[in-house]
Amino acid sequence: MKCLSCNIDLSWRYSIKAVEADRPIYYSYQWWECKKCGEKYYGILEESKVNIFNDDLIHTGYRVKPADWEESLQWAKKCPEPDIDSCNCAIHKELPPAGFYGEQAWYTY
Ligand SMILES: [Zn+2]
Ligand SMILES: [Zn+2]
Repeated sequence: MKCLSCNIDLSWRYSIKAVEADRPIYYSYQWWECKKCGEKYYGILEESKVNIFNDDLIHTGYRVKPADWEESLQWAKKCPEPDIDSCNCAIHKELPPAGFYGEQAWYTY
């Protein structure tokens, strides 16, 4: 994942994991930033284990307004167990985070 402006590798800041209630589809909602220019990005990693012989991985990224990014990051950090997809906290109940999209920055699978 590279910054759209600088074309350098982005730095990971935070992620929170989730799973769908009725299907084995796993999500990682991620906060990325560019250390050089300070631009902010959301990432969504989706891993489908519906077909056990063929795991599907999709990673999408969006460039977003820094204020929105900071606000959602502070919100997500209230989860006590971001690495546990079965966490039952108030944050996890509201996933995916509201407004978790923007200008598309990458799409890989
Ligand atoms: Zn940059
Ligand atoms: Zn949680």
